[in-house]
Amino acid sequence: MIVYDTSEQRANETIEKLHTLLLEYHRRYDIFHTYEGVNNLATVNANAGDAPVAVDDKILDMIEYAISMDALTDGRMNIAMGGVLKIWQSYREAGLNDPEQAVLPPMDALLAANMHASISNIILERTAGTLYITEASTQLDVGAVAKGYAAQRAIAAMREAGVTSMLLSLGGNVCSIGTRPDGTGWKVGIQNPYAGQTLCVVQVSGQSVVTSGTYERYYTVGGKRYHHIIDPETLMPSKRYDSVTVISSDSALADALTTGLFCMPIDEGMALVERLPETEALWVLSDGTQSMSSGFITFLTTD
Ligand code: ADP
Ligand code: MG
Repeated sequence: MIVYDTSEQRANETIEKLHTLLLEYHRRYDIFHTYEGVNNLATVNANAGDAPVAVDDKILDMIEYAISMDALTDGRMNIAMGGVLKIWQSYREAGLNDPEQAVLPPMDALLAANMHASISNIILERTAGTLYITEASTQLDVGAVAKGYAAQRAIAAMREAGVTSMLLSLGGNVCSIGTRPDGTGWKVGIQNPYAGQTLCVVQVSGQSVVTSGTYERYYTVGGKRYHHIIDPETLMPSKRYDSVTVISSDSALADALTTGLFCMPIDEGMALVERLPETEALWVLSDGTQSMSSGFITFLTTD
């Protein structure tokens, strides 16, 4: 977090507030751990097929948003795919722990899990304030959207609190408020997926820059890399791209969209980005070539 303010004390208070807020979101969106005194997504997953779980608005709002992004990406970004993703995750972890024995998950197990990945199995009851998963085998995985959503809400809260100059970097997800104190935009480097260097630098004022890449989380089987973005159509890591970057005034949109675009042909993804307001994208295709939406170039900077 970088904050500029009129005094160091004010800036430190902002950082403290932001950290507390992000922790609140983290505890709610965690699917791996439960916390004393709060029903979170781990609680919802544990009650799948059993009972609706009372959750607060931070959870309901995010899930509602994720469901809307499922529709926008035509099911490419699907938070009900938790069963499939869990299998990939356990094979990836086993493969990383013991690379010699690394294997791919059996397709029949992936197909079986995918029988229970329908987004319509997620029932959100606003008035009751509950979230219910209708099938015991359906599991939520919000890895594609929760970080961006939390970042967006946290940034909005900081704006409301009067913060005018801030940069928040949450691993692959960089959000900005305003400009740097000298009035120039924030410079954000986009990683070259093939080397540890920078592919290009963008300059933003108030936007978020989110990148998903095949180089972030993967394991190797038979000399080939298998990364963590799973195409719901093939149930395999998407082979279309090596990285997708989205710049948008909405960090939640940018996060959910990077994952959705990763699993979409370039023409379809380009058409989608072009019709979204204040949203641009950069694709590094798996043959190493690049594509940009029409306005992406306006963010590029050379200095
Ligand atoms: P990261 O910040 O880790 O790059 P991404 O936004 O790229 O996150 O999302 C990747 C994560 O989303 C995976 O680790 C997994 O939890 C989940 N995921 C992978 N593929 C999909 C998909 N097609 N739809 C929804 N979630 C997915
Ligand atoms: Mg994402």
